[in-house]
Amino acid sequence: MKVIETVAEFREAYPQAPKPLGLVPTMGFLHAGHMALVERARADCATVAASIFVNPTQFGPGEDFSTYPRSTEADLEKLEAGGVDLVFAPPADEMYPEGFATAVDVGAIGCRLEGERRPGHFNGVATVVAKLLAIVRPDRAYFGQKDAQQCLVIKRMNADLNLGAEIVVVPTVREPDGLALSSRNAYLTPDERRAAPLIYQSLLVAKRLCEEGVTDAMEVKRQMRMLLEKSPLVRLEYVSVAHADTLEELDLLASPALVSLAARIGRARLIDNLTL
Ligand code: AMP
Repeated sequence: MKVIETVAEFREAYPQAPKPLGLVPTMGFLHAGHMALVERARADCATVAASIFVNPTQFGPGEDFSTYPRSTEADLEKLEAGGVDLVFAPPADEMYPEGFATAVDVGAIGCRLEGERRPGHFNGVATVVAKLLAIVRPDRAYFGQKDAQQCLVIKRMNADLNLGAEIVVVPTVREPDGLALSSRNAYLTPDERRAAPLIYQSLLVAKRLCEEGVTDAMEVKRQMRMLLEKSPLVRLEYVSVAHADTLEELDLLASPALVSLAARIGRARLIDNLTL
């Protein structure tokens, strides 16, 4: 496995890499969710590249950029064990040198849900992923369904800017009790960790109601909130029942719908979703 820190070095390694080339972009502190992306890329591609970059431009003021967990050595071990060929782990000034001025704005899809609560977040995501796709020039890039809106934003950007990568979405990996794996789960105290599965359980409530034929999205959201209120440790930011492609909020549950939520538990802000 080759670890590369500069764009110039990546450009040098690129011609020798057997194609198809798959890219797994990450912010590090890797867990089994990230490794599911690596596994899928390994199964699909002749060369697997992963990136580790905690992207400052996707964090808002007061968010956890400076405290975001980092563990580069352990990450490199995991990537090597997962069969990754190339790791691109640039320092911040390699990605954003002095004078950097361009931003990718993906429009409405980046302004709803997470975008509404984290203004500018998806412009930061779209900009850094556009840069990674331009540097690595992968045939396929792998993203997790856990960040469903991010997947939509990246598909939009990839299509609009003719970046030419196939965007592959990999299902969410969960703990045995349903909690979606996330680097931010590391922030949870034992009590908070015990409360956290309520997030997934609330999504299962939505799934059950949908299967029972309930179509009133307000009712679905009401019952999800009721469950989440069972723990005083869970501070709900939003629940949404939206069209799975446009993310427009739905009155009537109709397929394809994306049920999603964000909640704060202690210092962690956690998101999860289910497609119905
Ligand atoms: P991050 O390091 O949090 O930016 O995540 C890097 C990639 O891993 C993103 O495409 C995420 O959607 C994906 N990912 C994170 N957690 C999970 C999970 N639990 N299951 C599947 N993919 C995930």
